[in-house]
Amino acid sequence: MADAVTSRESDYSQWYIDVVRKAKLADYSPVRGCMVIRPNGYALWERMKETLDGLFKATGHENFYFPLFIPERFLAREAEHVEGFAKECAVVTHSRLTLNEEDELIPDPESKLEENLIVRPTSETIIWNTYADWIQSYRDLPLLYNQWANVVRWEMRTRLFLRTMEFLWQEGHTAHASKEEAVEEAERMLDVYATFAEDYMAIPVVRGRKTASERFAGAVDTLCIEALMQDGKALQAGTSHFLGQNFAKAFDCTYTDENNEEQYVWATSWGVSTRLIGALIMTHSDDQGLVLPPKLARDQVVIVPIYFNDEQRTQVLEEAQRIQQELDDADIRVKLDADDNQKPGWKFNEYELQGVPLRIGIGPRDIENDNVELARRDTREKNIVPQDGLVARIQDTLTDIQDGLFQQALERREAHTTTVDSYDAFKDVIENEGGFVKAHWDGTEATEARIQDETGATIRCIPFDRDDEPGEDMLTGEHSEGRVLFAKAY
Ligand code: AMP
Repeated sequence: MADAVTSRESDYSQWYIDVVRKAKLADYSPVRGCMVIRPNGYALWERMKETLDGLFKATGHENFYFPLFIPERFLAREAEHVEGFAKECAVVTHSRLTLNEEDELIPDPESKLEENLIVRPTSETIIWNTYADWIQSYRDLPLLYNQWANVVRWEMRTRLFLRTMEFLWQEGHTAHASKEEAVEEAERMLDVYATFAEDYMAIPVVRGRKTASERFAGAVDTLCIEALMQDGKALQAGTSHFLGQNFAKAFDCTYTDENNEEQYVWATSWGVSTRLIGALIMTHSDDQGLVLPPKLARDQVVIVPIYFNDEQRTQVLEEAQRIQQELDDADIRVKLDADDNQKPGWKFNEYELQGVPLRIGIGPRDIENDNVELARRDTREKNIVPQDGLVARIQDTLTDIQDGLFQQALERREAHTTTVDSYDAFKDVIENEGGFVKAHWDGTEATEARIQDETGATIRCIPFDRDDEPGEDMLTGEHSEGRVLFAKAY
């Protein structure tokens, strides 16, 4: 078939690109590392955004918006932050173009900016500069704000959705009077991300904290959720940072407490991005294309009418519209594809590629027998079912698909999580099987770096629910407080 997807087995990377492009989620763009998000991809992002936004509001947050540009001197104020981000910044230096003597378009030397502007890679600095104005007293706290925005990080190796130079995301930025409150906030938002990943995206995640070397630049503590993709590689799906007083100190943001004493403000920031769409694809999709969890699918059901002449057409469409109305009344997102330019077989294939969870086929014979054909995208099971009770059956099936996708992903993750004691066993699993590997680590950056150099695996996180049995580092034999989670990662 001309539009078949490369199989995962033969070439996993190509399979991923095929799914993204053939499901019409995104395209490459003329700008290296940047993508065009197509309507199917954007609809998915909109549903994710809407759901997450609801969860943020339910936990007391409001949205605001800050400028795309950050004055260069702001970035320089927090030492670790600038060190982390300096290497991947897009910098605006001029405000005009002009033609030179060779008639080439060049930045007009006359228009050089007095101060360079950075295209935001993240917005802590510009936001904390303003928080210093907004916060005076303990009565001004906490500030619980979020922004939906695009950011730019000059990434060298990019992959559609998973790592792009410009990406869409949300960044929460909160300010608190106490350390405890800020720590609690960072934990709460990690829980929100984990709930979203598991209950909506049907992706099981491990919650934990990053090691010092993997921490966000400028954070005291980085919490994360980590997911396992079908090829056995890990993906960091979301981060929530406890920033301590680092940004408050850099921007001189203080408040007067109840005892009239001046204190630095405590901070958190947290973000998820369009990377989540990549996670969704790599977790559930198959060799037929995209598979979507019903909760995030723009269309949960598609109705494909089947007819061979005009008389049948009228009759079949009438029935199809009645079913569409019934599903719509029950708040099921349904699309009726009555396009005469394409044959039913072509449509079946197309909706399979695009991951619509359920397909209803209805033709003259079905109408005679008061039936429809119901096809599940996840299991590719097809059944002739009575029209009577169809809405309830569809509601149950959508729930079943949502739960089934989560269970399948969970079982795959469990099957690809290995506990090892020796470095030889570790290397063997990382090299030959992939997946998550639980192993003892002595807590030093030197050992972590050596393991990465030698095997390509990184510490994905120190899981919150790890068994805290002390042991010996698999490489150095030094004391280990408990096992950490290793994997090769995207
Ligand atoms: P960070 O600010 O580095 O903690 O990242 C916040 C969120 O953005 C995390 O969930 C990352 O997975 C995601 N992210 C980081 N870099 C990229 C990128 N180049 N493309 C897409 N998502 C990214």
